[in-house]
Amino acid sequence: MQVIETVADDGHHAVHYINRVGWLRAAVLGANDGIVSTSSLLAGIAASGAGHGAILLSGIAALVAGAMSMAAGEYVSVSAQADTERADLAKERHALAHQPETEWRELRDIYVERGLSPDLAGEVARQLMAADALGAHARDELGISDFSKARPVQAAVASAASFSVGALPPLLTVALVPAPATIAAIVASTLLCLALLGYAGASLGGGHRYRSMVRVVFWGALAMALTAGTGHMVGATL
Ligand SMILES: [Zn+2]
Repeated sequence: MQVIETVADDGHHAVHYINRVGWLRAAVLGANDGIVSTSSLLAGIAASGAGHGAILLSGIAALVAGAMSMAAGEYVSVSAQADTERADLAKERHALAHQPETEWRELRDIYVERGLSPDLAGEVARQLMAADALGAHARDELGISDFSKARPVQAAVASAASFSVGALPPLLTVALVPAPATIAAIVASTLLCLALLGYAGASLGGGHRYRSMVRVVFWGALAMALTAGTGHMVGATL
């Protein structure tokens, strides 16, 4: 991951958050999904009156199933993005080979729109195309850069890993806490983990920490309450 760091006139170093957005969003989403879906499922099964072994087994199954579905979903969606990028780059390569003047005008106009004078924009476009025509068009016309380039396998592995990391705390809680206190322990450990995740995500992404904590804790608590209520009702009828 490339870190963008600028040094101000007074020597102050500034690290930009933008290059973190891609992997951060996938990691927080995956971990949040892992915590909320696994803890809700465990709370639901526990509230149905199932035995400790059954609760633990369903938790392990939820972790594996969730991690695989996240990986599959991420791989499929990022592969589709990669296909689109490849098709756009092939079109661009063809246009650069067959109508370089039109392409030069296109790039020049993009720089004029960004505020350069037509002459300077034309010169910048000419020099950038001389250095790396496809790279310049990919970056400034199509918005494909090193940061945004689609990496399906990396995305799938990162998603499955972050889901699994998220699912572990509620699962370990069930493994360590005996039957009467299971639900209370799941709720406590889950809300704590969600608060930490909200805090970490906001800290890394430059967001508002406490608002982010409240946001993830609220939705996590709601998901657990609804699932536990459903589990309790269904368990009573079975
Ligand atoms: Zn172009």
